[in-house]
Amino acid sequence: MGREYWEEELETLSRKQLEKLQTEKLKKLIERAAKADFYEKKFSNMGISPDSIHSVNDIRKLPFTCKQDLRDHFPYGLRAVPQKECIRLHSSSGTTGTPTVIFHNRNDISNWANLMARSLYCAGVRDDDVFQNICGYGLFTGGLGFQYGIERLGALSIPAGAGNSVRQIKLMQDYGTTAIHAIPSYLGYLHEVFESEGLDPRKDTKLRMMVIGAEPHSEDTRRRIEELFGVKAYNSFGLSEMNGPGVAFECEYQKGLHIWEDAYIVEIVDPHTLEPVPDGEIGELILTTLDREAMPIIRYRTRDLTRIIPTQCSCGRTHRMLDRITGRSDDMFIIKGCNVFPMQIEGILMKIPEVGNEYRIKLETIHSNDEVVVEVELHRDTFTDNLERLNNLTRRITHDIRDEILVKPIVKLVESGSLPKSEGKAIRLFDNRMKN
Ligand code: AMP
Ligand code: ZN
Repeated sequence: MGREYWEEELETLSRKQLEKLQTEKLKKLIERAAKADFYEKKFSNMGISPDSIHSVNDIRKLPFTCKQDLRDHFPYGLRAVPQKECIRLHSSSGTTGTPTVIFHNRNDISNWANLMARSLYCAGVRDDDVFQNICGYGLFTGGLGFQYGIERLGALSIPAGAGNSVRQIKLMQDYGTTAIHAIPSYLGYLHEVFESEGLDPRKDTKLRMMVIGAEPHSEDTRRRIEELFGVKAYNSFGLSEMNGPGVAFECEYQKGLHIWEDAYIVEIVDPHTLEPVPDGEIGELILTTLDREAMPIIRYRTRDLTRIIPTQCSCGRTHRMLDRITGRSDDMFIIKGCNVFPMQIEGILMKIPEVGNEYRIKLETIHSNDEVVVEVELHRDTFTDNLERLNNLTRRITHDIRDEILVKPIVKLVESGSLPKSEGKAIRLFDNRMKN
């Protein structure tokens, strides 16, 4: 039997040791960050120096950083080293508005590769795996982030990139792919392509596990994917501002996402008061990079809503676990006075076997009333010839969603395969309400 951990000592540090390490790193971080204009000004206004830090809790003395700060100081305001030292940048793809950019030096890329290798190892990938990375390479961090991690771990990497599903399947068959990484919204479609090729991934591939992430998805979506492919799907969480993937990952127990606390300080705060909430309560995830050199980021407001799972994991790792991301605070919509997250609707839909993998939520103003219109693709095998059964299905979906979000939606069933699919992260919420 091989070893259990990628870095046993770091992954199983006692909480006390971990906090000591974080405190030391935090002091050094302040020194490094002060070399960036943005933080230099903030620190001198607030009277902050490495001596301000005596324990991890002193992080609360430090300023928050938000996406707008990255935009306002685009492109160099948060860079803490000369350009000569940087070897890569990743930038948000944003077609509108100012993009955001993150710079990395040699150590940053190496540390990121190591965290990715640790994450993959934690989910069960080993050096004898053939790992096909089915996601966009380029400025998007999922491509190169995984690539470097797979190589560092020593598995055989197939840098397949996104799309071209028939070719993906051929690659899987030609090289005996045992593990894949893909975004969840793509996998339902990939499965359909398997079917239309007359293949079943459970029988016609050597797949033994998969990693899914980069976008919110419900536990029921995960279960569906696991069933379709006949293997376990481990959740991977990250964001470009914190490198990309490799921030938090599930282990074999799939009880939550271990967040690597020797590399990031995690806080969960009330998004309105910005005060910390107790472990177990949902709030906004705030992250600080402890190791990054080229562009340290302090107390980044991710807008992601989640909670710390207040129990220990049986795998022996001491790094705390984040719960599945419920959604982003900016995804939440308010309709008829109710706060709704798209993920609540997805959770309901994915429990219904007659429903396919795609859906869209449109907020519309109809006869001066704001309505939630949910377009739902039928599962391929769902009867479409029996009007009464279709009506019953519509009623059932309407009822279940209403029970969950307290607003009665307008449900429209559409044919399997008829909703548009995006190559990258799925866009499923459209707010077309008339603003008065
Ligand atoms: P980007 O920086 O463009 O890669 O986007 C990062 C964002 O994607 C995060 O802030 C989350 O909102 C979302 N995200 C990434 N991974 C996951 C995941 N496993 N579950 C839910 N949301 C995720
Ligand atoms: Zn664990």
